[in-house]
Amino acid sequence: CGIFAYLNYNVNRERRYILQVLFNGLRRLEYRGYDSAGIAIDSSVSRDPKSSQPSSDQIAPTPLVFRQEGNIESLVKSVYQEVAEIDLNLEESFSLHAGMAHTRWATHGEPAPRNSHPQTSGTGNEFLVVHNGVVTNYEVLKETLVRHGFTFESETDTEVIPKLAKFVFDKANEEEGNEAVTFSQVVLEVMRHLEGAYALIFKSRHYPNELIACKRGSPLLLGVKEATENTGNGPAFHDNKFISKNGHPKELFLSSDANAVVEHTKKVLVIEDNEVVHLKDGGVSILKFDSDRGKHGVSLSRPAS
Ligand code: GLU
Repeated sequence: CGIFAYLNYNVNRERRYILQVLFNGLRRLEYRGYDSAGIAIDSSVSRDPKSSQPSSDQIAPTPLVFRQEGNIESLVKSVYQEVAEIDLNLEESFSLHAGMAHTRWATHGEPAPRNSHPQTSGTGNEFLVVHNGVVTNYEVLKETLVRHGFTFESETDTEVIPKLAKFVFDKANEEEGNEAVTFSQVVLEVMRHLEGAYALIFKSRHYPNELIACKRGSPLLLGVKEATENTGNGPAFHDNKFISKNGHPKELFLSSDANAVVEHTKKVLVIEDNEVVHLKDGGVSILKFDSDRGKHGVSLSRPAS
């Protein structure tokens, strides 16, 4: 099984290219074994990267999710078929786009489209999650979420994660009003409730063009490719921040395996357990989850590498 994500920032990429990067990522992960696969992409351009952050009531268009049991090539085929059916333009160009992909090795729930990832918070795909690993306390989380009105469509342990994210997001907005909660705060709060092993990537309509990745026990790494990078003096990580001018074009990759990233860039950072990687506005921040730190337990303690 494996996870993969691709975010282009201030680099114009056609939908066709974005799909190819995601599919190639999946092909590189194939050797790890899987029974199903899926991807999420944006349905249309949600905002200009140069404009300021949209307020969280400006919800972006619903991301598109494609899921399939069987091999990567049958997913690829069905994606191009569906894309043609809904008349989606493959030449549409995005200067900022966050896509993600997954190969699944079922642990909970038979191989089937509804059990494939990305798993969703529900209608409208407000939160989408790809997951490798097992959430061992999913039954109790599921019961709680059902009591709060959520309905489940899969038999996976994973489905509690996007639903928990929506629950946390809605609750924070009720209590504190719009814009009070950041994407990383939502994910840190979700992590506080999860037991087991996981590598996760989150995508959300409420935080268009951002991605969050985190892990505990399952492998995950970040690849950074600057558009101008052609020497060994590429981007550097320092004090948890990726050193790069804001607005500087770049392409970012998340993967459970370096294998899927090295064809794009050699600048790879291995993510450690309990780290939360937030890709936003062309920057990378890495937060450290700390269960002792209260509600939004955040500390910035990763040494520069
Ligand atoms: N436990 C999850 C599922 O069964 C993820 C499996 C995986 O690591 O691919 O859907």
